[in-house]
Amino acid sequence: QMNETATATTTPNRIASHKTAEAMIVMEHVNKWYGDFHVLKDINLTVARGERIVLCGPSGSGKSTTIRCINRLEAHQSGRIVVDGIELSDDVRQIEAIRKEVGMVFQHFNLFPHLTVLENCTLAPIWVKKMPKKEAEAIAMHFLERVRIPDQANKYPGQLSGGQQQRVAIARALCMKPKVMLFDEPTSALDPEMVKEVLDTMIELAEEGMTMLCVTHEMGFARTVADRVIFMDKGEIVEEAPPEVFFTNPQNERTKQFLGQIL
Ligand code: ADP
Ligand code: MG
Repeated sequence: QMNETATATTTPNRIASHKTAEAMIVMEHVNKWYGDFHVLKDINLTVARGERIVLCGPSGSGKSTTIRCINRLEAHQSGRIVVDGIELSDDVRQIEAIRKEVGMVFQHFNLFPHLTVLENCTLAPIWVKKMPKKEAEAIAMHFLERVRIPDQANKYPGQLSGGQQQRVAIARALCMKPKVMLFDEPTSALDPEMVKEVLDTMIELAEEGMTMLCVTHEMGFARTVADRVIFMDKGEIVEEAPPEVFFTNPQNERTKQFLGQIL
């Protein structure tokens, strides 16, 4: 039996959809193997511009691999991936073009420990976008204000809490003005009291219309922002539905079992 009231009271109301008819990410018949291990099995997934998708599923089901293929942190072996009209191939220029459009936030923040918060945020704009330092710093401060930690700009990541570090990681990604944001379990490594501040930042991004593909098991977040929830198991997309359907009327046995474990 699912605990409806617990999730309902801990999350704000559902926010408006920004989904459009235009495709931002298209994955068609994507397959990937690690050696003999078939990790992604015929993945078909379209993320529309403005759409927010929550991807969930058991550990090892291929969620991270799926999103890492989108910005070529992993290479797929068959099928197509197209991001904002750019098809992923071995062409380095295409990979670079896609990476400029795709922001990524990881479970373990992945900030550079020897750089200040501000330097973490200006590094890619200066080196990848060739932006003048002053301009990059102004943009970085803008996004650090948006994630509510402008006062931490000159500190090093190790001096910040986990929640603050993750908000820096989000600000750093936003400094590249991405068209889509990928989140890979952004709150899984956080102490419970810091989960909300990161989810609130993500909810604000969603409210502003950012296209988002989020791997998370925060089902309250999914109910608040997701246009669709996708469930993966053993390298396959098993079920997808809007959250109100996904949580109340899951069809697949594996989905039911998974929800029974996490809710
Ligand atoms: P999830 O994010 O859903 O937990 P992953 O995409 O990380 O799943 O991993 C899917 C499967 O692929 C797991 O069984 C994992 O052990 C395996 N795997 C992940 N990365 C590698 C790798 N670099 N080499 C070999 N196997 C891997
Ligand atoms: Mg993972």
